[in-house]
Amino acid sequence: MSQKTVLVVEDERPIRDMLAFNLGRAGYEVQAVDDGREARTAIANRCPDVVLMDWMLPDVSGLELTRQLKRDPRTRTIPVIMVTALSDEDDRVTGLDAGADDYIVKPFSQRELLARIRAALRRGSVSDDEVLEVGELKLDAASHQVTIGDAAIALSPTEYRLLEFFMRHPGRVYSRSQLLDSVWGGNVYVEERTVDVHIRRLRKALTPFAYHKLIRTARGAGYCFAPREV
Ligand code: CA
Repeated sequence: MSQKTVLVVEDERPIRDMLAFNLGRAGYEVQAVDDGREARTAIANRCPDVVLMDWMLPDVSGLELTRQLKRDPRTRTIPVIMVTALSDEDDRVTGLDAGADDYIVKPFSQRELLARIRAALRRGSVSDDEVLEVGELKLDAASHQVTIGDAAIALSPTEYRLLEFFMRHPGRVYSRSQLLDSVWGGNVYVEERTVDVHIRRLRKALTPFAYHKLIRTARGAGYCFAPREV
């Protein structure tokens, strides 16, 4: 397995140095930068395998930088883990809504950080050549392109994985914790309502084509992908 690169975007030098040291020791190649401008330059030079993004940066917020990365087709599949001192739940949801794939709240343990990075890398590397189809909805697992008819559907990496999981497992009800295990990875510490946030975003992306009905809420149980609904 080739060495994976982690881009650390963190303006507080002691934290940045500590992260760079620990990740280096864990076998990762580390690029460490202290603001959004440097982060963009680093990514333009070489795409990292995962980005560890501090929320509060001096020039642009980590949130805005994440939005920019997720808008750009070249960088949108790079997993972004937001690092935040804000433990308020609204802020975490805002981070996920901006396209972050995961978040970690300061102070965090080295063990938790490494588990989240491993999970992000694992999720990012799943792919095969299949094209999955339901009606006009097509998911190309090789290119990660999702289309309905001629229209390209823009999805964040998490919504893409969620849709892929649903399309591979139609007609069965999955609880939030089952979805967390299957789509987010078993040893990631994410709250169950995170699933609702991403279901909402996935449905919203499919709504203009009336394909949101594919994802049915099974009251009190979870969610079900129902191909007969279209
Ligand atoms: Ca900061």
